[in-house]
Amino acid sequence: MISLGEAQAFTFGGFTPLPAVELEVTSAAGYYLTGPVVAATDVPPFSNTAVDGYALHFETTAAPPVRLHLAGEIAAGATSQGVVLAAGSAVRVLTGAPLPDGTSAVVMVEDTRLEGDEVVVTKALGEGENIREAGSDIARGASLFGAGIRLTPGVLGVLTSIGITRVAVFGKPRVGVISTGDELSDEAELAPGKIYDSNRPTLLGLVAEAGAVPVDLGRVRDDKALLAAAFSEAARNLDAVVTTGGVSVGDYDYTKVVLEELSGGSMRWMQVAIKPAKPYAFGYIGGTPLFGLPGNPVSSVVSFELFVRPALLMLQGASATRRPVVSATAATAFRRRPDGKLHLNRALASTTPEGELEVRAVGVQGSHVLSGLASSNCLALIPDGNGAAAGDRVQVMLTDEIRGNL
Ligand code: AMP
Ligand code: MG
Repeated sequence: MISLGEAQAFTFGGFTPLPAVELEVTSAAGYYLTGPVVAATDVPPFSNTAVDGYALHFETTAAPPVRLHLAGEIAAGATSQGVVLAAGSAVRVLTGAPLPDGTSAVVMVEDTRLEGDEVVVTKALGEGENIREAGSDIARGASLFGAGIRLTPGVLGVLTSIGITRVAVFGKPRVGVISTGDELSDEAELAPGKIYDSNRPTLLGLVAEAGAVPVDLGRVRDDKALLAAAFSEAARNLDAVVTTGGVSVGDYDYTKVVLEELSGGSMRWMQVAIKPAKPYAFGYIGGTPLFGLPGNPVSSVVSFELFVRPALLMLQGASATRRPVVSATAATAFRRRPDGKLHLNRALASTTPEGELEVRAVGVQGSHVLSGLASSNCLALIPDGNGAAAGDRVQVMLTDEIRGNL
């Protein structure tokens, strides 16, 4: 057996970002930046008011209440050009409006009352109060973000605020998913000995969740020629291939033979010191990475999380490629025996009313047991030994949202 770290290091060594593409900001959510972006303009582009109120000279409010002459109005979107803020006067301004020259504070409408064409200011203001200075959010010339930053809604908003409409990002990998095994069927009525191919939709979903483009390559029978044709065609046309089944030690099918041949002997057949998902293969077919995941449904998902997902994020140029691993209180026991392996148990993380993270085991922990997977949102990482008792602290890898308090 080799450690998880060794298997990951072997896998990830060759993954570099795909070539860059240029996209409209409006359709670039979820892509990763190829490099930093330089702000060509200030944000906000001009000084403006943070509140609905009156632009004034802050010194005039030193001893409230004071009466100021109302000398005009500027709405958001209007210009302040030609509006003069004379001594002893105020100009009505609406949130976001530019300010007349000489403005040194804006009083909120709540701190005033209007009497005829006079504004009575009932509060003393400090210099700059309620003014958003030009460039106070982003200064022109600033270098923002960096290579590998994901275009989240917040980042897209910032790019747009500095006038960027097109952005250079790394491309998205097209990832083929192939199931192998003679036991697999898609007949409505299962013949004796057959099972449905549940891995394929699961893995296609995981590929999509990892931000890549899933390509359904169907299932292939344990037939040398069919397997060879399917794998070589997939490797020719796609950026990565994920296959399940036929990678275990005792496997009797042809997947191994065929992959060994097509990869020119570069496939490495690993026994990783983890449970589930011990058997795992990785190599290249003509430069295209191929992940050979175990057929057991839970194992294939755990393998995907540990090996495929980070690699797909690397192809997308992401700088952060790992799921969050955090500490939680075990709300149930996580029992196990020493076996030299790290156990990854399907579990449900939630927050207590106080906001503390806790985690409970779900379902039966067999590598063939799918039902627990569907109700889990994390993997509890239980190191070699005798497991954890309720109340112990355990590490969890979060793989989904948490039912929380807010
Ligand atoms: P293998 O890795 O081929 O030895 O398969 C291990 C177990 O996973 C066997 O019980 C298979 O029937 C099952 N299995 C393999 N492929 C799939 C699949 N695509 N969907 C569901 N179960 C599968
Ligand atoms: Mg098999």
